[in-house]
Amino acid sequence: MPHRPHIQDPAPLHDQVGRLYFRVVLPTVAVALTLSSEWSDGPVLPLLTLLAALGAALHALLPARGRDALRYVFALVATGFVLLVAALGGAPPFQGTAAQLTVALLFTPATLMAWTLMFADRPRTALGLNTGLTLSVCLLVWRWQREGLHPAPQLNLPLLVLVIGMTVTYYAVTFAQMNARYHAGEQERVRDPLTGLLNRRALNERPDGPEPLHVAVLDIDHFKRVNDTHGHLAGDRVLRAVADVIQDALAGHGEAYRWGGEEFVLLLPAGSDAPAMLEGVRREIAARQFTGGQRVTLSAGLTRRGDGEDLGRAFERADSALRAAKDAGRDRVVLAAPGGLGAAPLDKRAAGR
Ligand code: GH3
Ligand code: MG
Ligand code: MG
Repeated sequence: MPHRPHIQDPAPLHDQVGRLYFRVVLPTVAVALTLSSEWSDGPVLPLLTLLAALGAALHALLPARGRDALRYVFALVATGFVLLVAALGGAPPFQGTAAQLTVALLFTPATLMAWTLMFADRPRTALGLNTGLTLSVCLLVWRWQREGLHPAPQLNLPLLVLVIGMTVTYYAVTFAQMNARYHAGEQERVRDPLTGLLNRRALNERPDGPEPLHVAVLDIDHFKRVNDTHGHLAGDRVLRAVADVIQDALAGHGEAYRWGGEEFVLLLPAGSDAPAMLEGVRREIAARQFTGGQRVTLSAGLTRRGDGEDLGRAFERADSALRAAKDAGRDRVVLAAPGGLGAAPLDKRAAGR
């Protein structure tokens, strides 16, 4: 079973809003309309209800990619529908009633708000769709008024729709931008900017579940010499390379943290072959030649977190094993048995299959 990384994006805003819009808002509005109107009002309300039911069903049934497409299809169909009714506004069934005008006026700002957020990941698309819908509703209202629907003759309804529509869009776009910035900041808070790995704060804030784990602590050997001999930028390149090798070796199964300067902590799923994985990382790094010809090695301590054991205790054991690896001459992986005090060096040839 793949080990789920604990730092996950919450469902993105556009997804959350899409779910709410298709599965709750549209059906609720359709039911409210059905309860408060006569079907003899014309084809507009039955068609809207049909569209809402179809949207809810498709959103529930479609996979993620289909849901992504659904929002485009729905927004375009809805705008096309408004335009169609506006175009046919002169013919009796589309002439518009006071009820339909009220629905159009009430529902338009709510729809614009929902669309902006439903396309929060595509701000320009949201702006285009909202402008299209606002202008279409302006046209519809203008057409209905011209055909004799004058519930409030003193009001310039098309102008009001335009101003209110674009105001709502502006606020919603602003909110979506703030939300995107907030989420980017949340990601930065737990990421190390140099290597892109999770940082020490992420490890400290990690919710510790009871699941069994392998805990490894890695430290680059004589890293100070790299800085002193080749400069700090060369040192940074080594750090990034080590992080990349670790990420590749994890292949999404497990968590990698930059714990300190040249120290890394790995949490690996219980079912994984952690010793072989670490040995692979060690060998890959030792075999690399960095710009300037320098070579680096790393040492690691590895242990298994015992049943119900505190992660901090397992970390201490892995850290002791790391010290044992350093004392034994560096460039090696040392295993510490859970609960045991002894640390056993990992035989490189045996583990490096
Ligand atoms: P040992 O084999 O015992 O681990 O020796 P070492 O030289 O690796 O350990 P030491 O703790 O003496 O040195 C760690 C060095 O890591 C010192 C510090 O300048 C360097 N360092 C820490 N963070 C960074 C960083 O972000 N970039 C660079 N280039 N160097 C860093
Ligand atoms: Mg160190
Ligand atoms: Mg070191």
